[in-house]
Amino acid sequence: MGSTKEIGNVPKEQQRNAQVVSRYYSKLIAEPAPDLSELNLFATLLPKGGDLHHHYSGAIYAEDYLDWVGKKNYCVYLEDHVEKGSDPSQHRYFKKYQIERREFATLPKPVQDICVSAKDIFTSNSLADFYRGLLMKWSDKDYENHYHEQPAPDQQFFATFGYFGGVSDYDYHAGLQSLKERAKAENVQYLETMLKGAPTVEDADLDKKLNALNAQSSDAERADAFTAYANFMAGDAKANAQIETYVQSVEEAAANLDDADFKLRFQSYVSRGSTPAKVFSGLYSAFAASNVSPLIVGVNIVGPENGYVAMCDYSLHMHMFQFLKQRFPKVKLALHAGELTLGMVPPEGLKNHIREAVQIAGANRIGHGVDVSYESDPDQLLALLKARNVAIEVNLTSNAVILGVKNEEHPIQLYRNYGVPFVISTDDAGVSRNNLSGEYMLFISRYKPSYIELKKVVYNSIRYSFLSDGEKAEQIKVLDQRFARFEARVVTLVRARRPVVAHGRVGA
Ligand SMILES: [Zn+2]
Repeated sequence: MGSTKEIGNVPKEQQRNAQVVSRYYSKLIAEPAPDLSELNLFATLLPKGGDLHHHYSGAIYAEDYLDWVGKKNYCVYLEDHVEKGSDPSQHRYFKKYQIERREFATLPKPVQDICVSAKDIFTSNSLADFYRGLLMKWSDKDYENHYHEQPAPDQQFFATFGYFGGVSDYDYHAGLQSLKERAKAENVQYLETMLKGAPTVEDADLDKKLNALNAQSSDAERADAFTAYANFMAGDAKANAQIETYVQSVEEAAANLDDADFKLRFQSYVSRGSTPAKVFSGLYSAFAASNVSPLIVGVNIVGPENGYVAMCDYSLHMHMFQFLKQRFPKVKLALHAGELTLGMVPPEGLKNHIREAVQIAGANRIGHGVDVSYESDPDQLLALLKARNVAIEVNLTSNAVILGVKNEEHPIQLYRNYGVPFVISTDDAGVSRNNLSGEYMLFISRYKPSYIELKKVVYNSIRYSFLSDGEKAEQIKVLDQRFARFEARVVTLVRARRPVVAHGRVGA
């Protein structure tokens, strides 16, 4: 190996490369106004390990959905929508771009007349505004930089799922394949995605019992209702068949996607806006599915956290997790918690979500964790997160758009300062029209972590993933190799760089 003597396990040349990259990177971020294009290049090449907070349907871009509309021979029509205020002057009018889920040729003539095929949308000049308007409704495109009739940012964000939802189940395997290709293109080796919600069953009597629970219910009342429902689901043929079908469909969607350079795993989930019975039923299925399938590595809860039902039932949901975690102790939890900020809900609503997700539900990771400063005893909460080694999934673009929390306001600085582990993730790259490199770019350019810290955060995305210990060790090795290649590549780049004397900046 020529001059490469090994120090520890790392060849000497590789160590030198790492030092060169560290110096180069430090100089780039030390500039008062860092060269963002050069940092962007750095972020694109950077190995990024895994994306641990990733919603499948939110990750796919609107253009791909429109492509799928075409493949299904569906079409899109414009629907005028009125949201009525208390007086007519407060009515808001906006357009919805709805998918017609019937083949175009089978539609009655009047429907055909108002429905537009995907091909026409893509190619017809006269439909340029229609196309642009659709992209703005099916994603956050132009939300911030271009005035149009705007719903509130969280409504804009969550409404997109209702639009592309008409075609998001088109072909899970094809969708995952395209996400894999995108991941590989930006040096990402692992995705842990939320593909599909877990199935639910109904039972009139048991539903009634669960739906009667509220924040004031006693431990005994909760345990009684939960136990009855869980026992029912465990013995119910229909429930078990649904869980089996669900697991099968997830595993089929993932078939043959893992390879030496890429791994794909799933989280199952329920929606927090549903009735208690539906949430419990779905959660039972999610836990049971995760318990049997090595591909379904965790359970989550999704939907707007500031919704009325989500707020009222928050603690009840955490108790459901606690109960089911006792039944299925090896199932891991990554819970959306604290995706809130001051003004979104009354201050009392900000006091306990992250804490309860950790203390009651037993979350292994927290999604967002933005309202941490507003919780009761936030200092102790930070210490608790650190002591329990609970990682925060930081989604910078999503938080900036939905919550308006960005730059110095974002609690990522608190997590850094108080030693709480965190990862950088995308949330919904298709809706946000971003990617993981873009999220790292924000992390680097806003918060200027050292190269050592940056690397540690990348490695966190494997360490805090829900892969098995053996798989993690394997993926860490892959990441080591990726960093060795990356650093060698950046050294070559730095040598080709023209020194910029005016800024006192030189190549390496
Ligand atoms: Zn999310």
